[in-house]
Amino acid sequence: MDALSCELSWSCVGEVAYFQLFMNTIRYYPIAGLVFLLVWVWGKRRFIGARIQQKWPAADKIWHEVRWSFVTLLVFVVTAVSSITMGKLGWNQVYKDFSEFGLGYAGLSLLAITIWHETWFYWMHRLVHKKPLFKIVHLTHHRSTNPSPFAAYAFNAYEAILEAIYLPLFVFIVPMHPIVILTHVGYAMVMNIWWHSGYEVFPSGWTKGWLTKWINTSTHHNMHHSHFNGNFSLYFNFWDRVCSTNFPNYDEYFEAVVARRKEMSRANRQPLEVESESAA
Ligand SMILES: [Zn+2]
Ligand SMILES: [Zn+2]
Repeated sequence: MDALSCELSWSCVGEVAYFQLFMNTIRYYPIAGLVFLLVWVWGKRRFIGARIQQKWPAADKIWHEVRWSFVTLLVFVVTAVSSITMGKLGWNQVYKDFSEFGLGYAGLSLLAITIWHETWFYWMHRLVHKKPLFKIVHLTHHRSTNPSPFAAYAFNAYEAILEAIYLPLFVFIVPMHPIVILTHVGYAMVMNIWWHSGYEVFPSGWTKGWLTKWINTSTHHNMHHSHFNGNFSLYFNFWDRVCSTNFPNYDEYFEAVVARRKEMSRANRQPLEVESESAA
């Protein structure tokens, strides 16, 4: 955090850039890599029932995601360094001392950035699905029709800017503490990796529960990758419901994924019976 408090100079900007590159890279690749190793490699057979799509993507598709993720990380670093530099110039509302607005405000600002991120993402996402923007901006991300955890940041530079810019825009107007910003970008990244993991862990009935139906599932975004023009939202199933852009078969598709998971875990518990039957 020292880099964030240095006096503005070229060497200070260099320090900030180095800190951001380091932080972004060590956050993203190890976490996405760990999820990949746990469920795509070590748990490949064990967790197969929880996979949303039963087939596996080709290795070159996964390398595509890993490579483009680095482009996104570089864009995120440039955006963060620009925003931090503006903060040092007093051009945005980032504040250093929690006591300035209190802890209650810090919590509220976290909620506000989440709602703003959801809204920005949904409308930006719908826009980049229109011609000719889809090809120019969003196609790189949609090369993954069966995404791995590394698809979370697989954007070209245009889209990476659009994915990042909501945050500097927000702090132009709304005061935020750096720790709150780091918390937000931390969970935003983890959720994103989870939605691209290719696995569903939520129980049957989730998409119809009075409260849970407002919270997106991994299946929701996986369907967006396999079916394209629907299921545009991020954390919450709010805008998709308000604008009727959920795929009409989202509920049934989700239930089918969960039913297969249950069925396969039941079958996994009785391997000997099945094996002895087929041996006979
Ligand atoms: Zn899309
Ligand atoms: Zn995606």
